[in-house]
Amino acid sequence: LSDKLQNALQKLKGKGKLTEKDIDLAMKEVKMSLLEADVNFKVVKTFINSVKERSLGSEVMESLTPGQQVVKIVHEELVKIMGQGESKLKINSNDITYFMMCGLQGAGKTTATGKLARKLKKDGKRPLLVACDIYRPAAIKQLQVVGASVDVPVFEMGDKTNPVTIAKEAMKHAMKHGHDIVIIDTAGRLHIDDSLMEELVEIKQTVKPDEILLLLDAMTGQDAVKVAETFNQYLDITGVILTKVDGDARGGAALSIRNVVDKPIKFLSVGEKMDQLETFHPDRMASRILGMGDVLSIIEKAQSAIDEKQALELQKKLKTQSFDLNDFLSQLQQIKNMGPLEEILGMMPGLGGNKKMKDLKVDEKELVFTEAIIQSMTKKERTNPSIINGSRRKRIAAGSGTSVQRVNQLLKQYDEMKKMMKKFSSMEKMMGKKKGLR
Ligand code: GDP
Ligand code: MG
Repeated sequence: LSDKLQNALQKLKGKGKLTEKDIDLAMKEVKMSLLEADVNFKVVKTFINSVKERSLGSEVMESLTPGQQVVKIVHEELVKIMGQGESKLKINSNDITYFMMCGLQGAGKTTATGKLARKLKKDGKRPLLVACDIYRPAAIKQLQVVGASVDVPVFEMGDKTNPVTIAKEAMKHAMKHGHDIVIIDTAGRLHIDDSLMEELVEIKQTVKPDEILLLLDAMTGQDAVKVAETFNQYLDITGVILTKVDGDARGGAALSIRNVVDKPIKFLSVGEKMDQLETFHPDRMASRILGMGDVLSIIEKAQSAIDEKQALELQKKLKTQSFDLNDFLSQLQQIKNMGPLEEILGMMPGLGGNKKMKDLKVDEKELVFTEAIIQSMTKKERTNPSIINGSRRKRIAAGSGTSVQRVNQLLKQYDEMKKMMKKFSSMEKMMGKKKGLR
C-alpha cells in the first residue's frame, strides 16, 4: 500500500501548479491502491471524496507547494478515518477493573492477554488472568505458560466448569487476593456461531467488564471487518486490538475498522513476544502507511531550503548510506540554511533524544575549517575517509592551515553522522518490515 500511495503522490509533489485533472488522476491511483490493500469500499469512497474536495479548495490551489499540500491532506484524512487520537484503556481508580478479551480462535486473545497483563503490571497494577476458554485443547495450559512468562497469576477451574461460573468465581478470587485488574481470556471459534456469542453475552452480563476488547487478525483484511461488525452487534465492544500487524502486507484492516464499527483501535500486536504490543496512534499509522515516518517532515523542511532534486538525492543517499565527505560538506552547507541540525535529527523516529547530536551542531566558523580540511584531501580520501592514516592527517592539517586535532574531530563528526544515518535507515527498514506496510 505504501509504495503505491507514494508513487501516486510523488507525481504531484514536484508540480508547481495543479489542475483538477492532475488531482483526479492521482486520486484514481490512490483509490486503486487502497482497494488493493483491502480497505473497505465505503471507506475508500468517503476518503477519496474528502481528499478531492479539499485538494480543489484554496488551501492547495493558492499554495506555493500544491503537491505537498495534497500529501498533507491525504495524511490528515488517513488520520481522520482511523480516529483522531490515542484511545486509552478505561481503568477504575478505586475498584477492580475488568477486561474481557474476545475474538475468533487464533486471533491472538491468549497472547494479548499476557501482553496486556505485562504492560499493566509495569504500571504498578496487580493483574489476574482468568482461563475461560475450556474448549480449545490445552488452552488453560497455554494461558498458564503466558502468565508465568510475565509473572502474573492465572485463575482456572479446569475444563469441566461453565465459563460463566468461572468468571463469577474469578471475581471473588480477585477481591479476596487484592487484584486490581482482571483480564478474562475467553474461547473463540473458527467461525462466529450462536452458542459462542451467547456464552460471551452471559459472561458480559455477569462481569460487566469495563472494556470488551475484540482481537482482530489484521491478516484477514475484509474478514476482520465483518467479524468486528458481528461481535459488536452482540457485545457492543469498547475497543479493538489489531493483531499480527507484523504479517499484514496491506494495512487495510486498520483503515476500515473505525469507520465500519465506530470503535477505536487501542493496541497493535506486532509479534509473538510479550513485549510486542504497541499503543495505537492514528497519526503514526498514517505516516507508516504513507511510508514516511517523520521523514515526510524532514523532506519538507529540506525542500524549503534545498531544491527538490538535491533533497531526493539526499534521501537516496540516506537510504543507501553511500554518503561520503563530499556529501558531508554539502550537507553541512545546506543544513545551515535549514535551521538547527538538532531539530532535523529530532524529527527522525528514535533519534530525538540522542545525546551525540550535540557534536553535530553546525557553527559558521567551524564550517570554514571544515571546508578547508575537506578540500585538502584527495578525491579518493573524500569518497573513502577510512583510508586517511596518521601521516596523511598531518599533511591535511598543514595543507588546510588547521591542526591534526581539527582533522580528527571532523573525521569523528563524519563517522557520527554516518552512524546515525545507518541507524536511521535500518530503523526505516525495520519499521517497514515490522509493519509490513511497504
Ligand atoms: P487465541 O486463540 O485467540 O487465544 O490466539 P493465540 O493467542 O493462541 O494466538 C494464536 C497464534 O497466533 C499463536 O501462535 C500466537 O503466537 C500467534 N500470534 C498472536 N499474536 C500475534 C502477533 O501479533 N503476531 C504474530 N506474528 N503472531 C501472533
Ligand atoms: Mg486462546
